[in-house]
Amino acid sequence: MKLVIFGPPSAGKGTQAQKLAEKYGLPQVATGDLLREHVAKKTPIGLKVKAYLDSGRLGPDDLIVQMISERVSKPDCKNGYILDGFPRTIGQARELEKMTDVDLVLNIVVDFEVLVERAVGRRICPRCAAVYHVKFNPPKQEGVCDKCGSALIQRDDDKETTVRNRLNVYQDQTAPLVEHYRTKGKLVDIDGSGGIDAVQAQMVRAIDRLKK
Ligand code: ADP
Ligand code: ZN
Repeated sequence: MKLVIFGPPSAGKGTQAQKLAEKYGLPQVATGDLLREHVAKKTPIGLKVKAYLDSGRLGPDDLIVQMISERVSKPDCKNGYILDGFPRTIGQARELEKMTDVDLVLNIVVDFEVLVERAVGRRICPRCAAVYHVKFNPPKQEGVCDKCGSALIQRDDDKETTVRNRLNVYQDQTAPLVEHYRTKGKLVDIDGSGGIDAVQAQMVRAIDRLKK
């Protein structure tokens, strides 16, 4: 099963993908996490994309596609995977179509004002990439990852001005993909305004419908 979790920045893609990955035993292929890992390790891809990430712009399609295709050709992806944050442009979607067919695109729909609040309160674990929110999904102990005990950090691109930039980039370059996938009959809208469990339940229903 190949799933795409789609939606604007800080809609909850990572949070939902992580839960689906556990439930269905599929790897979560998170573009943002992969990019941050490349930047931290100063790989050739990381050195090229750092400036884009810091400003909230999208990285160049060819680099992102290269990174994703390397990732999904690893053995753990052979039974399927969950794409989180890819594709983000029509060009990337076309490249993905050359690589494989996806089964379902889960499109998280949330108001823009809510997105800013979610992004600004987001905290992530630098070691295991778990995602928290200071108000909506706090860890048991403030500032500490429930899963691995590391100190949580705020992403550099979660400052309010960068967040607004990323939302504009989404409107211009990524939102048009919704209609692209809707036309193909592969897209299901998910109301992302509720709590994390309510959103997850809608996704599980859509996936289980697909399996029948
Ligand atoms: P994305 O991967 O789409 O950028 P995240 O999964 O990182 O989004 O979620 C953004 C922030 O919003 C995180 O801090 C997360 O804990 C919080 N969050 C995610 N889903 C919800 C939800 N349904 N209700 C409230 N907060 C949420
Ligand atoms: Zn952790």
